[in-house]
Amino acid sequence: MITVNCPTCHAPVQWQPENAYRPFCSERCKLIDLGAWADEQHALPALPETPEEWDALHHD
Ligand SMILES: [Zn+2]
Repeated sequence: MITVNCPTCHAPVQWQPENAYRPFCSERCKLIDLGAWADEQHALPALPETPEEWDALHHD
């Protein structure tokens, strides 16, 4: 089982298809992070399918 850290609150999140909010731990954290992106005028990316894609999106 792959575990990632929630980008918003950094809680460990199991990466599984049943988790609709992955890589977030909850809908609340997902909305917070998407809101942060909107505030920064970033285009909303598609939810990545894999942790590797997620890492790529968040690579500075
Ligand atoms: Zn969270």
